[in-house]
Amino acid sequence: MLFRGARLIDPASNHRDRTDVLVEDEEVGGVGPGLSSARAEVIDCDGLVLAPGLVDLHAHLREPGFEHKETVESGSRAAAAGGFTAVCAMPNTDPVADNAAVVIEVRNLADKAGLCDVHPAGAITRGLQGETLTDIAEMAEHGVRLFTDDHNCVQSSRVMRLALEYAKAFEVVIAQHAQDASLSEGWQMHEGYYSSLLGLTGAPGEAESIVVARDLALARLTAGRLHVTHVSAADSVRLLRDGRERGIRVSADVTPHHLALTDGDLIGYDTSLRVNPPLRTSEDRDALRAALADGTLDAVATDHAPHAPEEKEQEFDQSPPGTIGLETALAVVLTELVGPGLIELPAAIERLSLGPARILGLDDQGGPVAPGRPANLVVFDPSTEWTVGDRPFQSQARNSAFTGRRLRGCVLHTMLRGRFTVKEGQPTR
Ligand SMILES: [Zn+2]
Ligand SMILES: [Zn+2]
Repeated sequence: MLFRGARLIDPASNHRDRTDVLVEDEEVGGVGPGLSSARAEVIDCDGLVLAPGLVDLHAHLREPGFEHKETVESGSRAAAAGGFTAVCAMPNTDPVADNAAVVIEVRNLADKAGLCDVHPAGAITRGLQGETLTDIAEMAEHGVRLFTDDHNCVQSSRVMRLALEYAKAFEVVIAQHAQDASLSEGWQMHEGYYSSLLGLTGAPGEAESIVVARDLALARLTAGRLHVTHVSAADSVRLLRDGRERGIRVSADVTPHHLALTDGDLIGYDTSLRVNPPLRTSEDRDALRAALADGTLDAVATDHAPHAPEEKEQEFDQSPPGTIGLETALAVVLTELVGPGLIELPAAIERLSLGPARILGLDDQGGPVAPGRPANLVVFDPSTEWTVGDRPFQSQARNSAFTGRRLRGCVLHTMLRGRFTVKEGQPTR
């Protein structure tokens, strides 16, 4: 396979020019202008961008237990359609991924689907109950790199301290959904002008930043690796920046919806915009954008959260929080951040591929796109415009916060170890 004349954006090698990329079997065979191969199928990439396959640190694939929302196969297909070659699957399944057996089951389902590498995250505590640590050592032995009770923030400082001590011992990452339970009880949206206007119960940004401050203190105490997922508040960004400057081992991600939308968008009570953590103010959103550009936030992660239509069609306060995101992440970043010049394209690609690959410790993902490396690639058209929802989602779910919005940027080909998972915009299986 010869990708001819693509603009190669490869953060690991600092490449950002037009070139040819040859793929032989599972690997990149060559990179350079004017490549040729008698046997190769040539794919004209004039005007297109070629980059390392995208990596998502945070996706809910729902299987086992919630197959009416999504399966590993449909979630993998959505991931491939969005340009992803690896995703980290959240453990709040039924049964919970709090032991090696469930981790192995999810991995087997992903291997069978063959559309995207799936790296299951393990739970920090048994049953996500926040009390007793799981067997982190056993899951780490089975290759689990990231542990989280996502959705259920670990409230106990003692349990969080222990988890970070294990993280240090086994070189794994503890990812926190930072949310103080008592400050956010009964929340429906961000607390502020719009929650008063809409008559909905709010949770302040401090519900997040208080936990971020505590966890940074515990990461410093233990030297364990902390990751703060889906950062939403400007105060959390300030704390993370300060923590990094003090040498604390911390990384963080932000979702496309928190980068693009605000609490003011909830004015129509649209349940697809009810997400956890909630959309916050435009000042918060602007702080997140700046932090992604300056590297305080390492990664864009989707928090892809599929729900069945009847679940989201309830009253605002009854509908479960979450938006799907795998198929729109790249286009949202291109449209909302790269387009207006808030972040350079190579930096945006870095936050979607190499940055998250490093956090997960994946050395086969995120580039460099170089001879001998696994051919995990995405090719996209940066200028095509489309309306979200006009073509069917590959995800089983349809609860997208971006439905009806015009986005710029369209994935054409996704390649996993030299094999197309998406070709000409269509999944290959
Ligand atoms: Zn979460
Ligand atoms: Zn989540």
